[in-house]
Amino acid sequence: MPKVEIIAVGSELLTPERMDTNSLWLTAQLNELGFEVSAKTIVGDQRERLSEAFRQAFEWADVVICTGGLGPTEDDVTRDSAAQALGISQVHHESLWVELQEKFARMGRVTPANNRRQALVLEGAESLPNPNGTAPGQWRDPQGPGQKPLVMLPGPPRELKPMFLNHVLERLRPLAGQNVLLRRILKVFGLGESALDERLAHLYPQHPEVVVTTLFTPLDLEVHLAASAPTPEGCLERIMPLEEKIRQELGQYCYGQGQQSLAEVVGQLLLERQATLVTAESLTGGLVAQRITEVAGSSQYFLGGWVCYSEAFKHQQLGVSWEMLREHGAVSEPVAYALAMNARQQSGADYALAFTGYAGPSGGTEQDPVGTVYLAVATPAGVETKRIQFPGDRELVRSRAAQAGLDWLRRHF
Ligand code: ATP
Ligand code: MG
Repeated sequence: MPKVEIIAVGSELLTPERMDTNSLWLTAQLNELGFEVSAKTIVGDQRERLSEAFRQAFEWADVVICTGGLGPTEDDVTRDSAAQALGISQVHHESLWVELQEKFARMGRVTPANNRRQALVLEGAESLPNPNGTAPGQWRDPQGPGQKPLVMLPGPPRELKPMFLNHVLERLRPLAGQNVLLRRILKVFGLGESALDERLAHLYPQHPEVVVTTLFTPLDLEVHLAASAPTPEGCLERIMPLEEKIRQELGQYCYGQGQQSLAEVVGQLLLERQATLVTAESLTGGLVAQRITEVAGSSQYFLGGWVCYSEAFKHQQLGVSWEMLREHGAVSEPVAYALAMNARQQSGADYALAFTGYAGPSGGTEQDPVGTVYLAVATPAGVETKRIQFPGDRELVRSRAAQAGLDWLRRHF
Protein backbone atom coordinates (compact mmCIF):
# COMPACT_ATOMS: atom_id res chain seq x y z
CA MET A 1 0.00 0.00 0.00
CA PRO A 2 1.22 3.50 -0.76
CA LYS A 3 2.42 5.32 2.35
CA VAL A 4 1.03 8.58 3.65
CA GLU A 5 2.41 10.95 6.22
CA ILE A 6 -0.02 13.28 7.94
CA ILE A 7 1.39 16.51 9.35
CA ALA A 8 -0.92 18.23 11.82
CA VAL A 9 0.08 21.86 12.29
CA GLY A 10 -0.79 23.92 15.36
CA SER A 11 0.91 24.74 18.64
CA GLU A 12 -2.39 24.14 20.44
CA LEU A 13 -2.17 20.45 19.41
CA LEU A 14 0.95 20.15 21.57
CA THR A 15 -0.89 21.27 24.71
CA PRO A 16 -2.82 18.96 27.02
CA GLU A 17 -6.06 20.72 26.06
CA ARG A 18 -6.33 19.95 22.36
CA MET A 19 -6.11 16.72 20.42
CA ASP A 20 -5.26 16.12 16.80
CA THR A 21 -8.50 14.42 15.81
CA ASN A 22 -8.18 15.34 12.14
CA SER A 23 -5.56 12.68 11.56
CA LEU A 24 -7.76 9.99 13.12
CA TRP A 25 -10.58 10.85 10.77
CA LEU A 26 -8.21 11.10 7.80
CA THR A 27 -6.62 7.74 8.62
CA ALA A 28 -9.98 5.98 8.45
CA GLN A 29 -10.67 7.59 5.08
CA LEU A 30 -7.21 6.80 3.74
CA ASN A 31 -7.27 3.17 4.88
CA GLU A 32 -10.59 2.69 3.18
CA LEU A 33 -9.12 4.13 -0.01
CA GLY A 34 -6.10 1.84 0.10
CA PHE A 35 -3.38 3.96 1.72
CA GLU A 36 -1.37 3.15 4.77
CA VAL A 37 -0.72 5.98 7.21
CA SER A 38 2.87 5.24 8.12
CA ALA A 39 3.63 8.33 10.16
CA LYS A 40 1.90 11.22 11.82
CA THR A 41 3.73 14.33 12.90
CA ILE A 42 2.43 17.15 15.05
CA VAL A 43 4.32 20.40 14.67
CA GLY A 44 3.76 23.76 16.35
CA ASP A 45 3.37 26.98 14.38
CA GLN A 46 7.09 27.28 13.72
CA ARG A 47 8.45 27.91 10.26
CA GLU A 48 11.80 26.15 10.46
CA ARG A 49 10.56 23.11 12.33
CA LEU A 50 7.63 22.74 9.95
CA SER A 51 9.60 23.00 6.73
CA GLU A 52 11.98 20.41 8.15
CA ALA A 53 8.98 18.14 8.80
CA PHE A 54 7.82 18.63 5.20
CA ARG A 55 11.32 17.89 3.86
CA GLN A 56 11.52 14.65 5.81
CA ALA A 57 8.04 13.54 4.81
CA PHE A 58 8.73 14.19 1.11
CA GLU A 59 11.78 11.99 1.38
CA TRP A 60 9.96 8.75 2.06
CA ALA A 61 6.15 9.13 1.94
CA ASP A 62 4.21 8.58 -1.29
CA VAL A 63 1.70 11.29 -0.37
CA VAL A 64 1.97 14.08 2.20
CA ILE A 65 -1.17 15.55 3.76
CA CYS A 66 -1.10 18.47 6.16
CA THR A 67 -3.87 20.09 8.16
CA GLY A 68 -4.13 23.49 9.85
CA GLY A 69 -2.20 26.72 9.80
CA LEU A 70 -3.77 28.02 6.58
CA GLY A 71 -5.37 31.01 8.31
CA PRO A 72 -4.58 34.66 7.67
CA THR A 73 -2.43 35.44 10.70
CA GLU A 74 1.31 35.69 11.19
CA ASP A 75 1.37 32.34 13.02
CA ASP A 76 -0.25 30.49 10.12
CA VAL A 77 2.96 29.29 8.50
CA THR A 78 1.93 26.12 6.64
CA ARG A 79 1.93 27.63 3.13
CA ASP A 80 5.31 29.31 3.62
CA SER A 81 6.93 26.25 5.16
CA ALA A 82 5.74 23.91 2.43
CA ALA A 83 6.99 26.31 -0.24
CA GLN A 84 10.33 26.55 1.54
CA ALA A 85 10.67 22.77 1.81
CA LEU A 86 9.94 22.37 -1.90
CA GLY A 87 12.14 25.32 -2.87
CA ILE A 88 9.32 26.96 -4.78
CA SER A 89 7.54 30.28 -4.61
CA GLN A 90 3.89 31.15 -4.06
CA VAL A 91 1.61 32.77 -6.59
CA HIS A 92 -1.11 35.30 -5.85
CA HIS A 93 -4.41 34.14 -7.37
CA GLU A 94 -6.50 37.23 -7.98
CA SER A 95 -9.68 35.12 -8.36
CA LEU A 96 -9.21 33.72 -4.82
CA TRP A 97 -8.69 37.21 -3.48
CA VAL A 98 -11.89 38.45 -5.17
CA GLU A 99 -13.80 35.45 -3.81
CA LEU A 100 -12.50 36.09 -0.32
CA GLN A 101 -13.55 39.73 -0.49
CA GLU A 102 -17.01 38.66 -1.61
CA LYS A 103 -17.23 36.23 1.33
CA PHE A 104 -16.45 39.03 3.76
CA ALA A 105 -18.84 41.41 1.98
CA ARG A 106 -21.66 38.89 2.40
CA MET A 107 -20.97 38.92 6.15
CA GLY A 108 -21.10 42.71 6.00
CA ARG A 109 -17.39 43.07 6.74
CA VAL A 110 -14.36 44.61 5.09
CA THR A 111 -11.66 42.06 4.25
CA PRO A 112 -8.65 42.54 6.55
CA ALA A 113 -5.43 43.09 4.63
CA ASN A 114 -3.97 40.06 6.41
CA ASN A 115 -6.31 37.74 4.55
CA ARG A 116 -4.53 38.54 1.30
CA ARG A 117 -2.09 35.73 2.10
CA GLN A 118 -4.93 33.26 1.83
CA ALA A 119 -4.94 34.00 -1.91
CA LEU A 120 -1.38 32.65 -2.16
CA VAL A 121 -1.07 29.25 -3.82
CA LEU A 122 2.06 27.13 -4.12
CA GLU A 123 3.62 27.23 -7.57
CA GLY A 124 2.08 24.37 -9.55
CA ALA A 125 -0.75 23.76 -7.05
CA GLU A 126 -4.52 24.06 -7.44
CA SER A 127 -6.62 25.64 -4.73
CA LEU A 128 -9.49 23.69 -3.21
CA PRO A 129 -12.68 25.60 -2.36
CA ASN A 130 -13.71 26.00 1.27
CA PRO A 131 -17.38 26.94 1.49
CA ASN A 132 -17.27 26.56 5.30
CA GLY A 133 -14.41 28.94 6.06
CA THR A 134 -11.95 31.40 4.63
CA ALA A 135 -8.84 29.23 4.14
CA PRO A 136 -8.75 27.47 0.75
CA GLY A 137 -7.02 24.10 0.65
CA GLN A 138 -4.43 23.10 -1.93
CA TRP A 139 -3.58 20.10 -4.06
CA ARG A 140 -0.16 19.92 -5.67
CA ASP A 141 0.84 17.21 -8.12
CA PRO A 142 4.53 16.33 -8.35
CA GLN A 143 6.21 18.75 -10.77
CA GLY A 144 9.49 16.97 -11.15
CA PRO A 145 11.50 13.85 -10.30
CA GLY A 146 11.46 12.93 -6.64
CA GLN A 147 8.50 15.16 -5.82
CA LYS A 148 5.39 13.81 -4.10
CA PRO A 149 1.73 14.80 -4.15
CA LEU A 150 0.95 17.32 -1.42
CA VAL A 151 -2.47 18.02 0.08
CA MET A 152 -3.04 21.01 2.34
CA LEU A 153 -6.28 21.12 4.35
CA PRO A 154 -7.64 23.65 6.84
CA GLY A 155 -7.56 22.83 10.56
CA PRO A 156 -11.19 23.12 11.67
CA PRO A 157 -12.74 19.65 11.29
CA ARG A 158 -15.99 21.03 9.88
CA GLU A 159 -13.98 22.63 7.05
CA LEU A 160 -11.50 19.79 6.52
CA LYS A 161 -14.00 16.92 6.23
CA PRO A 162 -16.16 18.27 3.39
CA MET A 163 -13.08 19.50 1.55
CA PHE A 164 -11.49 16.06 1.73
CA LEU A 165 -14.65 14.25 0.67
CA ASN A 166 -15.55 16.65 -2.16
CA HIS A 167 -12.15 17.56 -3.60
CA VAL A 168 -9.41 15.22 -2.38
CA LEU A 169 -10.89 11.72 -2.28
CA GLU A 170 -11.29 11.33 -6.04
CA ARG A 171 -7.87 12.88 -6.71
CA LEU A 172 -6.26 10.34 -4.38
CA ARG A 173 -8.10 7.30 -5.70
CA PRO A 174 -5.88 6.75 -8.77
CA LEU A 175 -2.81 6.85 -6.50
CA ALA A 176 -4.18 4.28 -4.07
CA GLY A 177 -2.92 0.72 -3.94
CA GLN A 178 -4.64 -2.32 -5.35
CA ASN A 179 -6.00 -3.12 -1.92
CA VAL A 180 -8.21 -1.34 0.56
CA LEU A 181 -8.00 -1.83 4.31
CA LEU A 182 -11.12 -2.47 6.35
CA ARG A 183 -11.41 -2.60 10.11
CA ARG A 184 -14.21 -3.94 12.29
CA ILE A 185 -14.43 -3.37 16.00
CA LEU A 186 -16.05 -5.65 18.59
CA LYS A 187 -16.91 -4.13 21.97
CA VAL A 188 -16.41 -6.33 25.02
CA PHE A 189 -17.23 -5.84 28.69
CA GLY A 190 -16.51 -7.95 31.75
CA LEU A 191 -13.23 -9.60 30.78
CA GLY A 192 -9.70 -8.52 31.61
CA GLU A 193 -7.18 -8.21 28.82
CA SER A 194 -5.44 -11.47 29.61
CA ALA A 195 -8.70 -13.37 30.08
CA LEU A 196 -9.72 -12.12 26.66
CA ASP A 197 -6.44 -13.22 25.19
CA GLU A 198 -6.75 -16.66 26.73
CA ARG A 199 -10.10 -17.18 25.05
CA LEU A 200 -9.09 -15.87 21.65
CA ALA A 201 -5.38 -16.46 21.07
CA HIS A 202 -5.86 -19.96 19.64
CA LEU A 203 -8.08 -18.55 16.87
CA TYR A 204 -5.62 -16.03 15.46
CA PRO A 205 -3.22 -18.49 13.77
CA GLN A 206 -6.19 -19.98 11.90
CA HIS A 207 -6.66 -16.60 10.17
CA PRO A 208 -3.28 -15.07 9.42
CA GLU A 209 -4.90 -12.83 6.80
CA VAL A 210 -6.62 -10.85 9.58
CA VAL A 211 -4.64 -8.54 11.84
CA VAL A 212 -6.12 -8.62 15.34
CA THR A 213 -5.37 -6.02 18.00
CA THR A 214 -7.00 -5.67 21.39
CA LEU A 215 -7.41 -2.28 22.99
CA PHE A 216 -7.91 -1.82 26.69
CA THR A 217 -9.88 1.31 27.54
CA PRO A 218 -10.79 2.31 31.10
CA LEU A 219 -14.38 1.24 30.42
CA ASP A 220 -14.16 -1.83 28.24
CA LEU A 221 -12.20 -3.81 25.72
CA GLU A 222 -12.15 -3.55 21.97
CA VAL A 223 -11.09 -6.22 19.54
CA HIS A 224 -10.03 -4.73 16.20
CA LEU A 225 -10.05 -6.96 13.14
CA ALA A 226 -8.36 -5.60 10.03
CA ALA A 227 -7.84 -7.11 6.60
CA SER A 228 -6.92 -5.83 3.18
CA ALA A 229 -8.28 -6.97 -0.17
CA PRO A 230 -9.09 -5.40 -3.54
CA THR A 231 -12.60 -4.45 -2.39
CA PRO A 232 -14.36 -3.77 0.94
CA GLU A 233 -16.46 -6.89 0.30
CA GLY A 234 -13.25 -8.88 -0.11
CA CYS A 235 -12.03 -7.56 3.24
CA LEU A 236 -15.27 -8.63 4.90
CA GLU A 237 -14.94 -12.10 3.39
CA ARG A 238 -11.62 -12.40 5.19
CA ILE A 239 -12.74 -10.85 8.47
CA MET A 240 -16.18 -12.36 9.02
CA PRO A 241 -15.24 -16.02 9.53
CA LEU A 242 -12.86 -15.03 12.32
CA GLU A 243 -15.35 -12.52 13.73
CA GLU A 244 -17.97 -15.26 13.94
CA LYS A 245 -15.60 -17.51 15.89
CA ILE A 246 -14.65 -14.67 18.21
CA ARG A 247 -18.27 -13.79 18.87
CA GLN A 248 -18.99 -17.43 19.68
CA GLU A 249 -16.03 -17.63 22.02
CA LEU A 250 -17.03 -14.42 23.81
CA GLY A 251 -20.77 -15.06 24.00
CA GLN A 252 -22.48 -12.50 26.24
CA TYR A 253 -19.22 -10.67 26.90
CA CYS A 254 -19.43 -9.10 23.44
CA TYR A 255 -22.05 -6.39 23.63
CA GLY A 256 -21.68 -4.51 20.38
CA GLN A 257 -19.63 -3.43 17.42
CA GLY A 258 -18.14 -0.35 15.84
CA GLN A 259 -18.66 2.87 17.74
CA GLN A 260 -21.62 1.52 19.74
CA SER A 261 -21.55 2.38 23.44
CA LEU A 262 -22.97 0.13 26.13
CA ALA A 263 -25.60 2.77 26.93
CA GLU A 264 -26.62 2.74 23.28
CA VAL A 265 -26.99 -1.05 23.26
CA VAL A 266 -29.06 -0.98 26.47
CA GLY A 267 -31.20 1.77 24.95
CA GLN A 268 -31.78 -0.29 21.83
CA LEU A 269 -32.88 -3.29 23.91
CA LEU A 270 -35.31 -1.15 25.94
CA LEU A 271 -36.66 0.43 22.78
CA GLU A 272 -37.28 -2.95 21.13
CA ARG A 273 -39.30 -4.03 24.18
CA GLN A 274 -40.97 -0.63 24.57
CA ALA A 275 -39.74 -0.74 28.14
CA THR A 276 -38.72 2.14 30.41
CA LEU A 277 -35.89 2.69 32.86
CA VAL A 278 -35.14 4.82 35.92
CA THR A 279 -31.95 5.14 37.96
CA ALA A 280 -31.24 5.66 41.65
CA GLU A 281 -27.61 6.70 41.95
CA SER A 282 -25.70 7.24 45.14
CA LEU A 283 -22.13 6.19 44.31
CA THR A 284 -22.26 7.29 40.68
CA GLY A 285 -23.97 10.63 41.29
CA GLY A 286 -25.78 10.78 37.96
CA LEU A 287 -23.04 9.29 35.81
CA VAL A 288 -25.32 6.48 34.62
CA ALA A 289 -28.10 8.90 33.72
CA GLN A 290 -25.54 10.96 31.86
CA ARG A 291 -24.31 7.99 29.82
CA ILE A 292 -27.87 6.97 29.01
CA THR A 293 -28.92 10.46 27.94
CA GLU A 294 -25.83 10.92 25.77
CA VAL A 295 -27.67 8.70 23.30
CA ALA A 296 -30.02 10.57 20.98
CA GLY A 297 -33.62 9.42 21.42
CA SER A 298 -33.12 8.21 24.99
CA SER A 299 -36.24 10.11 26.12
CA GLN A 300 -38.20 7.27 24.57
CA TYR A 301 -37.11 4.85 27.29
CA PHE A 302 -35.36 6.77 30.05
CA LEU A 303 -37.85 8.37 32.47
CA GLY A 304 -35.27 9.97 34.77
CA GLY A 305 -33.29 9.30 37.90
CA TRP A 306 -32.50 10.21 41.49
CA VAL A 307 -29.07 11.34 42.60
CA CYS A 308 -29.71 10.06 46.12
CA TYR A 309 -26.43 10.97 47.74
CA SER A 310 -27.23 11.60 51.41
CA GLU A 311 -28.93 9.19 53.79
CA ALA A 312 -31.71 11.71 54.40
CA PHE A 313 -32.41 11.96 50.69
CA LYS A 314 -32.47 8.18 50.32
CA HIS A 315 -35.02 8.12 53.11
CA GLN A 316 -37.18 11.08 52.03
CA GLN A 317 -37.21 10.50 48.29
CA LEU A 318 -36.94 6.76 47.95
CA GLY A 319 -38.40 5.47 51.20
CA VAL A 320 -35.32 3.71 52.56
CA SER A 321 -36.08 3.30 56.27
CA TRP A 322 -33.86 4.88 58.90
CA GLU A 323 -33.79 1.53 60.61
CA MET A 324 -32.29 -0.14 57.56
CA LEU A 325 -29.77 2.66 57.06
CA ARG A 326 -28.71 2.42 60.72
CA GLU A 327 -28.50 -1.34 60.77
CA HIS A 328 -26.77 -2.00 57.43
CA GLY A 329 -25.28 1.36 56.45
CA ALA A 330 -25.97 3.20 53.18
CA VAL A 331 -23.46 1.02 51.35
CA SER A 332 -25.15 -2.34 51.68
CA GLU A 333 -27.11 -4.92 49.80
CA PRO A 334 -30.47 -4.19 51.51
CA VAL A 335 -30.19 -0.46 50.73
CA ALA A 336 -29.32 -1.07 47.07
CA TYR A 337 -32.29 -3.46 46.94
CA ALA A 338 -34.66 -0.91 48.48
CA LEU A 339 -33.43 1.89 46.19
CA ALA A 340 -34.06 -0.13 43.05
CA MET A 341 -37.39 -1.53 44.19
CA ASN A 342 -38.78 1.81 45.35
CA ALA A 343 -37.47 3.73 42.35
CA ARG A 344 -39.25 1.28 40.08
CA GLN A 345 -42.48 1.39 42.07
CA GLN A 346 -42.62 5.15 42.49
CA SER A 347 -41.90 5.90 38.84
CA GLY A 348 -43.89 3.13 37.24
CA ALA A 349 -40.88 2.24 35.07
CA ASP A 350 -40.29 -1.33 33.90
CA TYR A 351 -36.68 -1.37 35.06
CA ALA A 352 -34.69 0.42 37.75
CA LEU A 353 -30.96 0.41 38.36
CA ALA A 354 -29.48 1.40 41.74
CA PHE A 355 -25.88 2.08 42.75
CA THR A 356 -24.30 2.43 46.15
CA GLY A 357 -20.68 1.96 47.15
CA TYR A 358 -17.39 3.32 48.46
CA ALA A 359 -15.56 5.23 45.72
CA GLY A 360 -12.77 6.34 48.05
CA PRO A 361 -10.19 7.54 48.71
CA SER A 362 -11.49 7.37 52.30
CA GLY A 363 -14.41 5.45 53.78
CA GLY A 364 -15.15 1.78 53.59
CA THR A 365 -15.25 -0.84 56.31
CA GLU A 366 -13.34 -3.99 57.04
CA GLN A 367 -15.83 -6.20 55.18
CA ASP A 368 -16.53 -3.58 52.52
CA PRO A 369 -13.31 -1.69 51.75
CA VAL A 370 -12.97 1.18 49.26
CA GLY A 371 -14.01 -0.06 45.82
CA THR A 372 -16.94 -2.10 47.12
CA VAL A 373 -20.08 -1.53 45.07
CA TYR A 374 -23.62 -2.83 45.53
CA LEU A 375 -25.74 -2.83 42.41
CA ALA A 376 -29.43 -3.62 42.28
CA VAL A 377 -31.68 -4.09 39.31
CA ALA A 378 -35.46 -4.15 39.62
CA THR A 379 -37.27 -5.82 36.75
CA PRO A 380 -40.84 -7.00 36.19
CA ALA A 381 -39.61 -10.37 37.54
CA GLY A 382 -38.23 -9.05 40.82
CA VAL A 383 -35.17 -7.41 42.35
CA GLU A 384 -31.61 -8.74 42.21
CA THR A 385 -28.50 -7.44 43.87
CA LYS A 386 -24.82 -7.91 43.25
CA ARG A 387 -21.66 -7.01 45.12
CA ILE A 388 -18.55 -6.12 43.10
CA GLN A 389 -15.10 -5.12 44.28
CA PHE A 390 -13.43 -2.69 41.89
CA PRO A 391 -9.74 -1.79 41.89
CA GLY A 392 -8.69 1.73 40.99
CA ASP A 393 -9.11 5.29 42.15
CA ARG A 394 -12.33 7.20 42.81
CA GLU A 395 -12.91 8.11 39.20
CA LEU A 396 -12.32 4.58 37.96
CA VAL A 397 -14.49 2.95 40.60
CA ARG A 398 -17.41 5.23 39.75
CA SER A 399 -16.90 4.90 36.03
CA ARG A 400 -16.58 1.10 36.11
CA ALA A 401 -19.55 0.73 38.45
CA ALA A 402 -21.69 2.72 36.04
CA GLN A 403 -20.58 0.52 33.17
CA ALA A 404 -21.05 -2.69 35.19
CA GLY A 405 -24.62 -1.65 36.03
CA LEU A 406 -25.48 -1.02 32.41
CA ASP A 407 -23.91 -4.33 31.41
CA TRP A 408 -25.81 -6.23 34.07
CA LEU A 409 -29.09 -4.66 32.96
CA ARG A 410 -28.29 -5.66 29.36
CA ARG A 411 -27.93 -9.26 30.46
CA HIS A 412 -31.49 -9.24 31.81
CA PHE A 413 -33.02 -8.97 28.36
P1 ATP B 1 -8.49 29.17 10.06
O1 ATP B 1 -8.68 29.96 8.83
O2 ATP B 1 -9.81 28.79 10.68
O3 ATP B 1 -7.51 29.76 11.03
P2 ATP B 1 -6.49 27.13 9.80
O4 ATP B 1 -6.23 26.18 8.68
O5 ATP B 1 -5.46 28.15 10.07
O6 ATP B 1 -7.90 27.76 9.54
P3 ATP B 1 -5.95 26.42 12.46
O7 ATP B 1 -5.88 27.86 12.82
O8 ATP B 1 -4.72 25.67 12.39
O9 ATP B 1 -6.70 26.28 11.07
O10 ATP B 1 -6.97 25.67 13.39
C1 ATP B 1 -8.24 26.24 13.67
C2 ATP B 1 -8.95 25.34 14.67
O11 ATP B 1 -9.18 24.07 14.10
C3 ATP B 1 -8.16 25.05 15.94
O12 ATP B 1 -8.43 25.93 16.96
C4 ATP B 1 -8.64 23.68 16.33
O13 ATP B 1 -9.77 23.79 17.14
C5 ATP B 1 -9.01 23.03 15.03
N1 ATP B 1 -7.94 22.13 14.61
C6 ATP B 1 -6.78 22.44 14.01
N2 ATP B 1 -6.05 21.36 13.75
C7 ATP B 1 -6.74 20.31 14.24
C8 ATP B 1 -6.50 18.90 14.29
N3 ATP B 1 -5.40 18.35 13.77
N4 ATP B 1 -7.44 18.13 14.89
C9 ATP B 1 -8.56 18.67 15.40
N5 ATP B 1 -8.85 19.98 15.36
C10 ATP B 1 -7.95 20.81 14.80
MG1 MG C 1 -5.40 29.58 12.02
